[in-house]
Amino acid sequence: MTLPVFVFVAALVVAIGISVALAIGRGAALANLREILGVGAEGDLEAAARAVVDGRTAAAWQAQQRAADLANLADLIAVGILRLDEELRVVLANHAAHAFLERAPGELPGLSPMEAFADHEAEAILLSARERLAASGEVLVGGPDGRRLVVRARRSPAGGFWVVLEDVTELRRLQRIRSEFIDNLSHELRTPLANVRLLTEALTRDLEAFDAPDRVRDRVAKLDVESGHLVQMVNELLDLSRIESGASQLYLDVVDLGEVARAAADRLRLFAERQGVRLESDVPEQPLLVKGDAERLGQVLANLVHNAVKFSPTGQSVVIRAERGADEVVVTVADHGPGVPRADQARIFERFYKVDRARVRGQGGTGLGLAIARNIVEGHGGRIWVQSEEGSGSTFSFAIPAADFA
Ligand code: ADP
Repeated sequence: MTLPVFVFVAALVVAIGISVALAIGRGAALANLREILGVGAEGDLEAAARAVVDGRTAAAWQAQQRAADLANLADLIAVGILRLDEELRVVLANHAAHAFLERAPGELPGLSPMEAFADHEAEAILLSARERLAASGEVLVGGPDGRRLVVRARRSPAGGFWVVLEDVTELRRLQRIRSEFIDNLSHELRTPLANVRLLTEALTRDLEAFDAPDRVRDRVAKLDVESGHLVQMVNELLDLSRIESGASQLYLDVVDLGEVARAAADRLRLFAERQGVRLESDVPEQPLLVKGDAERLGQVLANLVHNAVKFSPTGQSVVIRAERGADEVVVTVADHGPGVPRADQARIFERFYKVDRARVRGQGGTGLGLAIARNIVEGHGGRIWVQSEEGSGSTFSFAIPAADFA
């Protein structure tokens, strides 16, 4: 064989080898494809591949529809909704979010928190959500006359963040008006009420000098009890507005809670006697020290004792106890009144909550006393609770962390 013929034959052999290898390779790839698509050797591979492509197009279209549907729903909701990416830039925002942040439709996407809210507190809430999964707070956007928004942000399991904005401008305005009204009214009621109390006391003293009939004495005693309830109610209303305006600061000092309990018992003993209720105190001599605001803690006790007396049948007793626990001082006020049904026990510490309005008719109150008591106790880092069986009395307790002198 001459050289050119040899080269030609060799090239032919290589070309055939490559073609055979390619054919084998393609055959293997096709077999793989059949296996992936679940098409047998006789099945129509092309039809199966088309079905996959069609399915993918349909899924993309459905996803698009779902997103449009969700955006439509989000626009109907009167709460602002924002979707942020990992960098906290706005990805999506509904109509309400645009309206609350005073933006034209479509202006929010792409903005950073500072650009969207123009408020450092809002930015801080979002940064904190990025650090801690979720965060919330109330912010004022758009200057002093702007909107009050409650901002709640939470990391989404799908990445990024959801932010919900609630416009509470009107709610806060109404709350302020209500609070100012209650505050003014209570102040106005205070003076005439103090005069009624003074007159009742003078009348009680006068009656002792005269030989007045029992009927008259009885009426004056009732006048005293009822005006006592009124004073308590006005004080509670004033406390509520003080708490709501954020002015109810605690002045902490080392306080003997046993002494506070004894003082409350002394103050309310006469009131109890006029209701025909015996007030007993079982408080140890040694000091039970806590870090607290003596006046506020006295108010908690006055409240619990006032309730206990108010709900006690005539002839029964109310007992005030104070004792040192492991790391706290516990004070209890026990009565033999109607008790608090189990279902109401957690709720009576809510504002304005009263168990059964019919049952307490004639012993009316504001339904605020226990809410105020809880606010004060929790402000001391303590807790307050009730144990009661309906029909056999109640024991209200609160615990304040003991003052550490070590
Ligand atoms: P109020 O001004 O009505 O007494 P509180 O907040 O002090 O308001 O109490 C809330 C409700 O809890 C009362 O209306 C009453 O239904 C119930 N309650 C409170 N103390 C007692 C008690 N010692 N015995 C029975 N029920 C009580």
